[in-house]
Amino acid sequence: FEDEELHVNTFRETRQISEAFNKLLGRLKMVDASREEFVSNVSHELKTPLASMKVLADSLLLQEQVPVELYQEFMEDIAKEIDRENDIINDLLTLVKMGKTAPDLNITQVNINQLLELTLKRLKPIAEKKNVEVVLESFRPVTAEIDEVKMTLAVSNLVENAIKYNNEGGWVHASLNADHKFFYIKVADSGIGIPKEDQDHIFERFYRVDKSHSREIGGTGLGLAIARNAVILHRGSIKVYSNPGEGTTFTVRVPMIYVSAQAAAV
Ligand code: ADP
Repeated sequence: FEDEELHVNTFRETRQISEAFNKLLGRLKMVDASREEFVSNVSHELKTPLASMKVLADSLLLQEQVPVELYQEFMEDIAKEIDRENDIINDLLTLVKMGKTAPDLNITQVNINQLLELTLKRLKPIAEKKNVEVVLESFRPVTAEIDEVKMTLAVSNLVENAIKYNNEGGWVHASLNADHKFFYIKVADSGIGIPKEDQDHIFERFYRVDKSHSREIGGTGLGLAIARNAVILHRGSIKVYSNPGEGTTFTVRVPMIYVSAQAAAV
């Protein structure tokens, strides 16, 4: 009898181990597939400006006598593509740095009202170019334990998008509120909006609703992935609400006191 019980138990344990192993293998495969997809996306995105530069340079080289104006125009286009390549690389580096298992967060007490004011001030010139009115409403003074650089990056990306995907003469409304546990940042705009079917995907790396339109506007498709990562590192959350043609609102909720992953696991 004892032997039989031992046999049954061993059988059960072997099956449990095998199930756990299969589960792990499945997850590893998923990680591998998503890494592969990421590398392939990165290559594709980096190749696009390069391909444009090649076409521009080749067409200049093919002509024997290039008029100065044409030369100037093509060189300006090449310079634009170089800037774009640079933007993609910089955003990628930011993402990779934040994606580490133990990213170095520099947590300090930060005045969030001031952080928002400074971010909006910095983006004012882009807003003015589009005649977009940017308003900040601070419902109360907020000081929280955050990584100032990373949180600024998140807010900056949200406000920049709210301006970029807005209509001429539109508005952006940023607000700050808090309770005893969290602070809340809201960035609302009167822009083009995001179709329902895209809303689940916009935080993915390189995802853009309208590739050609976004490219024209000058995005890398990494801004929201960076914003989301920065917020998640603070154990916060980020959500989007949008009606196409009416506008978009992003809400960010972040704990006032930072709890590290190790401390949270205890
Ligand atoms: P991008 O560099 O293209 O702006 P993001 O990651 O910042 O990339 O945003 C991903 C996509 O989400 C954008 O290409 C755009 O289609 C959409 N999007 C982001 N913010 C807004 C907004 N405020 N209004 C409308 N569409 C937006």
